[in-house]
Amino acid sequence: MALKITEECINCELCEDECPNQAISSNSEIFVIDPNRCTECIGHYDEPSCIAACPVECIEKDPAHTESLSQLADKYAAMHC
Ligand code: SF4
Ligand code: SF4
Repeated sequence: MALKITEECINCELCEDECPNQAISSNSEIFVIDPNRCTECIGHYDEPSCIAACPVECIEKDPAHTESLSQLADKYAAMHC
C-alpha cells in the first residue's frame, strides 16, 4: 500500500530527501507521494523513512492504493534491479 500525505503538511521538505525511491515531491500546495514509486520503503528500510522524518505526523497509508508485500517488493525490483 502506498502512503499519502495529508493536508496537514507544513511543507518543511524533510521527507523529500529521505525517500529512497524519489517518490516525494512538492505540488503547488503540499508535498505529495507518487503511488507508482512508493514501496513503503520495502527493499530499503524496515519502516517508512518519510514517516520517521515528518514532524507533524501527516503521512499515512493510502487505502486507495492497496498492495500486498509481494507487490511492493515487485515494485522495488522494477525500480532498482
Ligand atoms: S514510505 Fe518510503 S518509499 Fe514510500 S514515500 Fe515514504 S520514504 Fe518514499
Ligand atoms: S515531512 Fe511531513 S510536513 Fe514536512 S514536507 Fe514531508 S509530509 Fe510535509
